[in-house]
Amino acid sequence: MIEIKPYIKNIPVYEAGKPVELAVREFGIAEDEVVKLASNENPLGTPPKAVEAIKKFANKAHLYPDDSMYRLKGKLANRFGVDDKNVIIGAGSDQVISFISHILLSEDKKILTSAVSFAMYDIYAKHHGAKVIKTKSYKHLSNEFIPLIKEHKPSIVYICTPNNPTGDATTKEEIYKIIEASYKSGAVAVVDGAYMEYASYLCSDYEINPKELIQKYPNVVYLGTFSKAYGLGGMRVGYGIASKELIEDMMRVRPPFNITTLSMEAAISALDDDEFIKQSLELHSKELIRYKEFAKESGLDYIESYTNFITYLMPNDLNSTDIYKYLFQRGVIVRDLASYGMNALRITVGTEKQNDKLFSVLSEAIK
Ligand SMILES: *Cc1c(COP(=O)(O)O)cnc(C)c1O
Repeated sequence: MIEIKPYIKNIPVYEAGKPVELAVREFGIAEDEVVKLASNENPLGTPPKAVEAIKKFANKAHLYPDDSMYRLKGKLANRFGVDDKNVIIGAGSDQVISFISHILLSEDKKILTSAVSFAMYDIYAKHHGAKVIKTKSYKHLSNEFIPLIKEHKPSIVYICTPNNPTGDATTKEEIYKIIEASYKSGAVAVVDGAYMEYASYLCSDYEINPKELIQKYPNVVYLGTFSKAYGLGGMRVGYGIASKELIEDMMRVRPPFNITTLSMEAAISALDDDEFIKQSLELHSKELIRYKEFAKESGLDYIESYTNFITYLMPNDLNSTDIYKYLFQRGVIVRDLASYGMNALRITVGTEKQNDKLFSVLSEAIK
């Protein structure tokens, strides 16, 4: 009799955005007609400099990657004005979340998140049988977080800013209050900045500086990723920035060679591709305005967005799952937030053409 640990059986399996192939297979839609606005990928594609690097290093696939990740860490450290001993690299920032969970959680521990936030915080907590405590609202409000920190003494407090899947951002004052309370309570505060490039560009009030964070607080881990603005979701590269002590402990649980040579080179080159990032952010901010206008014209409410997606709230007489299915059958893939307890759709802002199609099909759907 195989005895799987009981708490493993309670872990929900992560549900990624529906892949293009499924729409092609199920509804016979031509692959290049499918518009995937479900996973917050960069609609401009892979940064050209990263493509060059991947090609250049293709014939180095027989060699193990540089496990010290010297150049990538150096480049990130330089960018953020920290030491490379303050940096850890993960196969996506997802993997850094798994490291943090690994070093802090067990069956008698807890984590605290906002009511609606990134699903992987819960899932990694459940890998260790830890309990998940949530606030009442999706917003990161210090007056909701602080009493729960005092009551539950969580080991990890997650602050996702801007937040996925809602798109709202939290002010520095609020974040610092939550971190301060976490510090006093002996919790590690994780500030997940997966969409920080967008927030900084759209409204600098919401910009969080990882260097300032880790100088002020020894209990903070800041997370960043190459999967969103940097257009490298398929390469799986993310990073954590924290005190040397926390990084050292995370390094103990890191598998060797946890990202590939091609991923590492792609990330290094993407950091140099300023033109690509500039174009991505410019396109995004222009198209985001169209999403807000569309919502207003269509009588839809939305959450003010500081990310590369927008969350449309469905009116009471419409069901987000029905709308989601309607769109999917017509080759437009978005994210239904029903599983988060919200009657809402999360839509990644695409290219002008992709967005035109979304607006046209969504108008039909809500009629
Ligand atoms: C996308 C995302 C991540 C990490 O993605 P990786 O591809 O694993 O780097 C982390 N946090 C949030 C909130 C995200 O949306």
